[in-house]
Amino acid sequence: MVETQIVARGISDKKVIDAMLKIPREKFIEKKFYSQAYNDHPLPISEGQTISQPFIVALMTELLNLTGDEKVLEIGTGSGYQTAILAEITKEVYSVERHSTLFNKAKKILDEFGYKNIFLFNLDGTEGLKEYSPFDRIIVTAASDKIPKPLVEQLKESGRLLIPIGDRFSQELLVADKINGKLEIKNYGGVTFVPLIGKYGVTE
Ligand code: SAH
Repeated sequence: MVETQIVARGISDKKVIDAMLKIPREKFIEKKFYSQAYNDHPLPISEGQTISQPFIVALMTELLNLTGDEKVLEIGTGSGYQTAILAEITKEVYSVERHSTLFNKAKKILDEFGYKNIFLFNLDGTEGLKEYSPFDRIIVTAASDKIPKPLVEQLKESGRLLIPIGDRFSQELLVADKINGKLEIKNYGGVTFVPLIGKYGVTE
């Protein structure tokens, strides 16, 4: 998977490649999908949600431009796969999931792996995590029609935020850098994510 779907498509950050080689993706999905664990597409988890396509996980992680010292906020823990990849690379990962079933499942598997630098929360992530802010990086793995204000406020100066923005059916991956208190935004093209449902996201 890493060679044909990740490296062949231009992912070159060694930290990202090593983390993806290390983490067994099948541990984060349901047994009935085991044979598809390394395929080039998203897979259903539960609650109508999905674990992202491996390439998208790699691309978003690379775009976070991590050196290893950063405090990262992830919105949309889902299966916990992206969370584990981030925890391999950086100092601390704070990850928020709104569905309690997914939160509990992810917590169980990430505890089994023994990560000490992952902090999970069962909350509406569009409000961010004010008490742990500011964050060096914020990655949102669900799609909204706007960037939630609290996330902008909780992003450190010179920090970077990644979020898919669009409607229910198609979105564009935005990379926003906070420079002199303002966001400078680049568009990395079309992606498809499940909706970011919450106070500062979209409605159900
Ligand atoms: N990175 C995950 C992607 C999961 S899909 C993975 O690879 O497994 C996106 C997740 O975002 C879903 O689990 C969904 O329940 C969650 N989500 C949607 N809106 C949210 C919100 N406001 N706060 C926290 N999580 C949210």
